[in-house]
Amino acid sequence: MLSSVKFRLIAWFLSVFFVVMTGLGFFLYYELEYIVIGSVDTHLHSKVQLIAGLMDVDEGILDIELSEVEAGDYALPLSGHYYQIVSRDGRVIARSPSLGSVDATLPIAVESDEPTTSTIIGPGNSPLRLLNETFHLDGGVTVTVQASKSLEDSYELLALFRGAILLVFPSVFVLSGLGMLIITGHSLRPLKIFSKKIETITEKNLNERIDEGTVAELRPLAAGFNTMLSRLEESFARQKRFFSDASHELRTPATVIKSTCDVMLRRKRTAGEYEGAIRKIGETARRLTELVNRILEVSELDSGRASFLLLADLDLKDILARVLILLEPSASGREVKIYMKDRHVRIRGDREKLLEAFTNIVDNAIKYNKRGGTVDIDMNDADGYGVVSVSDTGVGIAEADIGSIFERFYRVDTSRAGVAGSGLGLSIVKGVVEAHGGRVEVSSKVGDGTTFTVFLPQGRATAGSL
Ligand code: ADP
Repeated sequence: MLSSVKFRLIAWFLSVFFVVMTGLGFFLYYELEYIVIGSVDTHLHSKVQLIAGLMDVDEGILDIELSEVEAGDYALPLSGHYYQIVSRDGRVIARSPSLGSVDATLPIAVESDEPTTSTIIGPGNSPLRLLNETFHLDGGVTVTVQASKSLEDSYELLALFRGAILLVFPSVFVLSGLGMLIITGHSLRPLKIFSKKIETITEKNLNERIDEGTVAELRPLAAGFNTMLSRLEESFARQKRFFSDASHELRTPATVIKSTCDVMLRRKRTAGEYEGAIRKIGETARRLTELVNRILEVSELDSGRASFLLLADLDLKDILARVLILLEPSASGREVKIYMKDRHVRIRGDREKLLEAFTNIVDNAIKYNKRGGTVDIDMNDADGYGVVSVSDTGVGIAEADIGSIFERFYRVDTSRAGVAGSGLGLSIVKGVVEAHGGRVEVSSKVGDGTTFTVFLPQGRATAGSL
């Protein structure tokens, strides 16, 4: 919960919101206080100036005519509106009726060059703003005029503002939090649907796709996931096909062995019949083992790991010479002549795997050749590749089949009939060559023959050296 994106977004938003709102609240409050108290000070200053204007010194005697300011709030007892005039020696010379009638005074001010203001608790325990200003009159007479105004109204206004902030702030905070909760919930909903959908996908419904939807940020994720699903689906389908083809191919020799045993056991046989049956079973078992080995090989190549290659510096001529020795019996059995160019081409590769790949290619060139046909093996260096081409004068491969011959278990129908094979040879060739970082090309003409050309990188840039 605490680690969810939703929680983090809301927590981050509310923290920032809290700091900003609190800061703004304090700022506005103190700004208002400054303005309100400032206006009281301005008011007091004008009153003090007014009172100062009413003072006159005649032959060293101070004469004050205060009747003009003794009315209104200054006349009401404890109204909060007070003034008093203090002599240099701290005596109260005059005071407003609002003080006089209750015999109270303001705190006596000390003489000062500059007007001073302060906030005090005055008579009647009310908060007051007090202004003191010293005047130097004619004849060396110095008096300090003090005027005060109640701050109750100002404090009431500030309290009202404080209350409004304290009411509005939490409400906005809660409303924004709720808004954020709804918005993030709404925005993250596609992600929830997305993960629910992913949970439901198994190998049985790999054909389903995720709705790429309307949320722009999620579209690449959904598209990427759908691409991955397509690849998985394809790979599962391939595996399935492989298993069913493999079982199908394995069933044939297994059936031959079983039926041969059944026939033999039906009645007593001669020694020659038993020998013939055992030979047949032995030959079929050999084919079965070969098939199983090939299947294992294909699945190893399928794992996509090039790390199984044992890389060494090789001469392709050595490998093909070895292939010719291995296939010599098969070639002479079919009266096929093999010619090979005497050229050294160096590459970096796995000797055993390449031996197997070229054996498959040359074996096919012999198997699918006509009696008395030829096989030409050529090799070259070209653009950093060691290139080997194997051309035969055999049955050829129809255009429509060329694209499929590298698929596992694929056999062109016509060749299936006469020649033994598993349909795995060329898929092994392709797997081995591609694991080396190379490629295989085929060109063929039905009735004329086929050429397989293998390109193998010469440098260290083979897949196996990754
Ligand atoms: P197989 O065990 O059937 O030879 P491969 O995978 O080696 O399996 O070959 C697949 C199919 O490609 C063969 O069944 C055959 O029809 C065709 N093919 C391969 N090589 C040749 C060739 N040199 N000439 C004609 N057809 C070929």
